[in-house]
Amino acid sequence: METAYVSERINRLSESATLAAAQKSRELKAKGIDVINLTLGEPDFQTPLFIKEAAKKAIDDNYSYYSPVAGFPQLLEAIVNKLKRENQLDCQPAQVVVSNGAKHSIANVLQVVVDKGDEVIVPAPYWVTYTDLVRYSEGIPVVPESTVGNNFKLTPAQLEEAITPKTRAFIFSSPCNPTGSVYTREELRAFAAVFARHPRIIIISDEIYEHIVYDVPFESIAQFPEIRDRVVVINGVSKSYAMTGYRIGFMAGPQWIAKACNKLQSQFTSGPNSVAQIAAAAAFNHDGSEVRKMVARFRIRRDLALSLLREIPGLKTATPDGAFYVFPDATAFFGTTDGEMTIRNADDLCYYLLSKGHVGLVSGEGFGAPNCFRISYAASEEQITGALARIKTALAALKPTR
Ligand code: PLP
Repeated sequence: METAYVSERINRLSESATLAAAQKSRELKAKGIDVINLTLGEPDFQTPLFIKEAAKKAIDDNYSYYSPVAGFPQLLEAIVNKLKRENQLDCQPAQVVVSNGAKHSIANVLQVVVDKGDEVIVPAPYWVTYTDLVRYSEGIPVVPESTVGNNFKLTPAQLEEAITPKTRAFIFSSPCNPTGSVYTREELRAFAAVFARHPRIIIISDEIYEHIVYDVPFESIAQFPEIRDRVVVINGVSKSYAMTGYRIGFMAGPQWIAKACNKLQSQFTSGPNSVAQIAAAAAFNHDGSEVRKMVARFRIRRDLALSLLREIPGLKTATPDGAFYVFPDATAFFGTTDGEMTIRNADDLCYYLLSKGHVGLVSGEGFGAPNCFRISYAASEEQITGALARIKTALAALKPTR
């Protein structure tokens, strides 16, 4: 009898496309090839000193025991205060559950609200993890698409059209990974008006890039009173505070969802790492000056990446107003070859740019946008300049197959 098989549930998951692309870059590097890796979505800055100090103090203060499942009271309070101070949201500690990163919070929420056969609207381009987690929760992703032409933004009409009696949830990120698009208050208000007509839908708002915006204000869909009691805000410390390895994120939403997440987490992981929780509380209580310094550096890099990209004939690029990604459309290169490799889609193009140009990028395929690829500019100016020069040269070598 065959024993070496895994559950059907785990087979529904695919491996993270971004982590797989990063792995390919590392493999080439290990062979001694000078690869510039722009695949990963994490700040290249160090965690601010005051946060490191808080973590060290937590160790000395013996934060070495289990925490409450939903997080230490002082962290919940710091999150409640952050939501009030920065987002004008009133929320009680019992509405918040802290988890091992925003990814874990999203996994919890989807598992507690989605039943088998429920539809979850995931506008494309989307963060790779959403559709897999929906499928893992036995839900069905429904994916309305947008393109570079409309700045990768879903329209209220598309949203309305995607809703059926089976729709249970909607999940999106603004600022968006992978496109960098940021919804305005008016655009979110229009979504809220659609949701107001469909009271069964839970709105999951992934706000992990909240602080990383350029020239435009961050707006949360949770601000609209008509849907407030159905919005789950997801956030954390990974991106804003350069704390990806600390693994702290949270959900804040209706108490009945928080209670269910607490129950799930009590059986799966217990409360997250105690020391990291204390460090995260220091981050949430901070005045934001460290974040602003990082954002100023990201802005210089975004402008650099954009200006260099716009010098490359054939690529179509929208201006990203947030996060640290650019997401060019590369359709013009499909059906080309350098004489050895043929480019049929974004997967081929990223493979070509890695093997011939030695730049690690992520194909849009995993983000539900097969015409595009993602460049992360969370890298030094020197790396960005070098990578874009390599991309320009490699793309110039491609000629139509016929
Ligand atoms: N949400 C989005 C849109 C992301 O891009 C990421 C990380 O890449 C996360 C969530 C995960 O954040 P965390 O490190 O807190 O799990």
